[in-house]
Amino acid sequence: IAKQAGKNRYHVFDVGRDAAVKVRFENIERIRLALDQGEFCLHYQPKVNLRGGEVVGAEALIRWRHPEQGLLAPALFLPHIDNHPLCVALGEWVVTTALSQIRAWAAVGVHLTVSVNIDAFHLQQADFPARLAALLSAFPDVSPTALELEILETSALQDMAAVIDTMHACRRLGVQFALDDFGTGFSSLTYLRRFPAEILKIDQSFVRDMLEDPDDLTIVKGVIGLATAFKRLVIAEGVETLAHAEVLLENGCELAQGYGIARPMPADRFYEWLTTRSLDAVWTAWLNSAKQ
Ligand code: C2E
Ligand code: MG
Ligand code: MG
Ligand code: MG
Repeated sequence: IAKQAGKNRYHVFDVGRDAAVKVRFENIERIRLALDQGEFCLHYQPKVNLRGGEVVGAEALIRWRHPEQGLLAPALFLPHIDNHPLCVALGEWVVTTALSQIRAWAAVGVHLTVSVNIDAFHLQQADFPARLAALLSAFPDVSPTALELEILETSALQDMAAVIDTMHACRRLGVQFALDDFGTGFSSLTYLRRFPAEILKIDQSFVRDMLEDPDDLTIVKGVIGLATAFKRLVIAEGVETLAHAEVLLENGCELAQGYGIARPMPADRFYEWLTTRSLDAVWTAWLNSAKQ
């Protein structure tokens, strides 16, 4: 009887929790199905050198071609598999798809470094370097140096020592690292010095607001200064206008990514953009819009 009562109580007081668990389970299973059925795809956003105009790489960004809901951005589905093993399977699909795209572009004469975003849960798997090596070995004709892993500055902070070991092991494979959304976390200078990450990506919120907010400009300048001092590359995200580009160049940041240059595109459109674009055209468009 007591057991019975306990059970009832559980049901009375935890209906909301039960429902939430059920929804999470259903979301996870739907994503598992989507992965099996090939509903995910990668879009690619160019990274350019603002001074010379050359394309220095591309960032792969996941999208879900949902049969009923259309093209879904990662913020709408990645949170469902937060801290779930499925995010490892999805992450490996992303790496493999990017490697196969690098190979496909190389076959038509386009040699680009492609970066992929790696979830903290995935990165912190003890066998991450070994499994990455296995994924790379499936592409013997692709140089591991063409693959870059973007990790959130904040994610790197959880188990710093283990993450640094993992990064070194991946570096030995030839893969490079970028610290994404840099400036939003709390990396101390000591940790930054110990991180084998070649690239700092200035978070787009600072770039976007630096024209109006002097504090944001100070942060942008600070990150550029840190990168210079520690001999890292620095790239600005969220470059939407000519004014952003000019301020970045004035302050010594030449690499940039943003809607003002190009939006993320499917691989075939990326190739089309790459072979027909000129940065002159981008600058001219910017200048014209600035005149309006
Ligand atoms: P992120 O890695 O910082 O990627 C940059 C995000 O900013 C992308 O959004 C991109 O489309 C957007 N963006 C680029 N230029 C501009 C701009 O000029 N203005 C504005 N407002 N936005 C710009 P997206 O594709 O929705 O991705 C959001 C986040 O989701 C990414 O942020 C990344 O953290 C995560 N993500 C994307 N793809 C993957 C993936 O394959 N795996 C994992 N684990 N995370 C991913
Ligand atoms: Mg990124
Ligand atoms: Mg970012
Ligand atoms: Mg971000």
